[in-house]
Amino acid sequence: MTPDVVVIGAGPAGSVAAATLARRGRAVLLVDGADFPREKVCGCCLSARGVATLESLGLHDLVASGSSLETVTLGVGRRTWSLAFPGSRVLSRGVLDQALLDHARRCGTVFRPRCRGTVTTEGEVVLRTTDGTERLRPAIVLVADGLGGRALRNHPEFAWRKARGARFGAGVITAADAPGPPPGELEMLVDPDGYLGVVRLPDGRLDLAAALDVSGAQTHGGPGPLAAHILRRFGRDALAREIDTSTWHGTPVLTRRRTVAHANIACLGDAAGYVEPFTGEGMTWAMQSAVSLANLAETAVESGSMTPWIAAHRRLTRRDRRRCRMVSLAMRHPRIVGPALALMTNLPILRRHLSTVASGDGLTTMPSSSEHAHAGS
Ligand SMILES: Cc1cc2nc3c(=O)[nH]c(=O)nc-3n(C[C@H](O)[C@H](O)[C@H](O)COP(=O)(O)OP(=O)(O)OC[C@H]3O[C@@H](n4cnc5c(N)ncnc54)[C@H](O)[C@@H]3O)c2cc1C
Repeated sequence: MTPDVVVIGAGPAGSVAAATLARRGRAVLLVDGADFPREKVCGCCLSARGVATLESLGLHDLVASGSSLETVTLGVGRRTWSLAFPGSRVLSRGVLDQALLDHARRCGTVFRPRCRGTVTTEGEVVLRTTDGTERLRPAIVLVADGLGGRALRNHPEFAWRKARGARFGAGVITAADAPGPPPGELEMLVDPDGYLGVVRLPDGRLDLAAALDVSGAQTHGGPGPLAAHILRRFGRDALAREIDTSTWHGTPVLTRRRTVAHANIACLGDAAGYVEPFTGEGMTWAMQSAVSLANLAETAVESGSMTPWIAAHRRLTRRDRRRCRMVSLAMRHPRIVGPALALMTNLPILRRHLSTVASGDGLTTMPSSSEHAHAGS
């Protein structure tokens, strides 16, 4: 039987959209090219708004299985600041994405792993597995295939517009005994060639995720050596040695946009456009927009038109993305941002403003006694 909706990509965006539609009685087929569980390049920090979204889906056990994030150590220029970060949780993508997928299936979604979807110019969904090819013509197609997805490669109306000088993402997960921050602390280290987040996952492994300049990575010999260079600048030599020889996974360039809907096709999550991940909200945006899109898609199953999503998506994401773009751009100039941060964190009113701008969640700074000049170069 042809489903009402085919969702391509079972990351947070695809699974949450599929779950929401299936729970309302729509026949949903969710496909992913990967097998689950799978890790992916990500800072693994879920903002307080993302936590609230998981709770609204009834996933309290999943939230409890994460570790709470208490502080962010922000290294800029020659200094580090310790900022309180209440409400966020750390969850590995292996655990989070599997749990969201399980939730979608419990809600009635049919899931096919190791199945790649593409959309033809005629609006057909072509599904490819090792067993063969199937063609479907659902009422609605939701494309949640992330930054690297090529499900819409035949559709010029969905061509990406990539920002000039955009950075790419890279990441690695270490063994559990790697030297690094304790549970509950995220280290964000900012260098002119990019920035690196380091956080301990609930199982003790360290997650490292970075947004890096293409030219900086080329100069240093790849994302691993550039990340090691950033760690050494901030005196994290032991961790730098640990990851020097690790195999890093990369993403395509990050900051990009595209048309998010045409005819009966709509994009969501990273597939609907992305800005650099400095404020760590991509998963939250993906899940929140999935719920909104599902509301819209539910009625669009009858009309077959997803174009109202263009305005709705703009309304939903404009403010957050502008704020994130602003913070990311500022962090490209650590020599200017460092002194500005020093000034802001010394003035309580500005300190509060800085916190809200950085997180969107009302992040607050800890007492200034935790601020210290960093000994690194
Ligand atoms: C360096 C870095 C650090 C980050 N840190 C954070 C952070 O700390 N907190 C946060 O909230 N966000 C963070 N993000 C952003 C976050 O990872 C993404 O925003 C989030 O994963 C988006 O979810 P998604 O469901 O849209 O896409 P994805 O999670 O990328 O899922 C897409 C899925 O589609 C599948 N797929 C692709 N093509 C096809 C196809 N043709 N057919 C079938 N399946 C397909 C893939 O296998 C994948 O499973 C970070 C990103 C980067 C790059």
